[in-house]
Amino acid sequence: MIFDVMTLFPEMIESYCSFSIMKRASEAGVIKVNTINPRDFTLDKHKKVDDTPYGGGAGMVLMAQPYVDAYESIERSENSITVMLSPQGEPLNDNLVNELAGYEQIILMCGHYEGFDERIRDIIKPKEISIGDFVLTGGELPALCLIDAVSRKIEGTLGKIESADEDSFSNGLLEYPHYTKPREYRGLKVPEVLLNGNHKEIAEFRLQQSIERTKKKRPDLYAKYL
Ligand code: SAM
Repeated sequence: MIFDVMTLFPEMIESYCSFSIMKRASEAGVIKVNTINPRDFTLDKHKKVDDTPYGGGAGMVLMAQPYVDAYESIERSENSITVMLSPQGEPLNDNLVNELAGYEQIILMCGHYEGFDERIRDIIKPKEISIGDFVLTGGELPALCLIDAVSRKIEGTLGKIESADEDSFSNGLLEYPHYTKPREYRGLKVPEVLLNGNHKEIAEFRLQQSIERTKKKRPDLYAKYL
């Protein structure tokens, strides 16, 4: 999977991807994260990428030319999708993450300031994706959320110890509670069933716990599960 991230702040992307599981996945060649900086495509000698909005108002708007030229410089595979990170987009969830994991290449467009000149949308026609109904200062964190979530779905990113099979949402439910050593902490004991080695009973206990906590924490998901 190749992620091509268009950003004015490539270090933010590179920094996150150089730690832990993302770093391992990159080193193993499972994912490749490239950054493309629209500032490198300006025709302006001051490398200007934004300007004031026509019609007035607060903030700066990202100019079309550097973004479109940067986009057109990216080599696109047949099985690729272009995503604009935007609070106005389709909300990211596990189903959409699974869908995105089916592509070979994801081009991610990170905005900043007031956002994009509308003609960037008109020309590139990206799929717009949001990570929630709130507004961040830039698209870098949303892009990293997407890269991380999609990478976890690609074989080879997670080792056996980090399997995603039983994670929340994979079966429509929230995941069951986890416990590790010691068996007792501040008077709180690990449920006995997890200590008896009976895999059938453990599986039943966990499913029951998943159902109960989904019902309590996410009645919307529980309603769909029924
Ligand atoms: N003026 C825009 C609006 O009200 O729709 C918001 C612009 S926001 C301050 C700057 C950039 O951050 C956006 O272009 C987008 O790339 C990113 N961004 C902010 N919130 C986001 C969210 N919830 N999901 C995805 N991207 C987001």
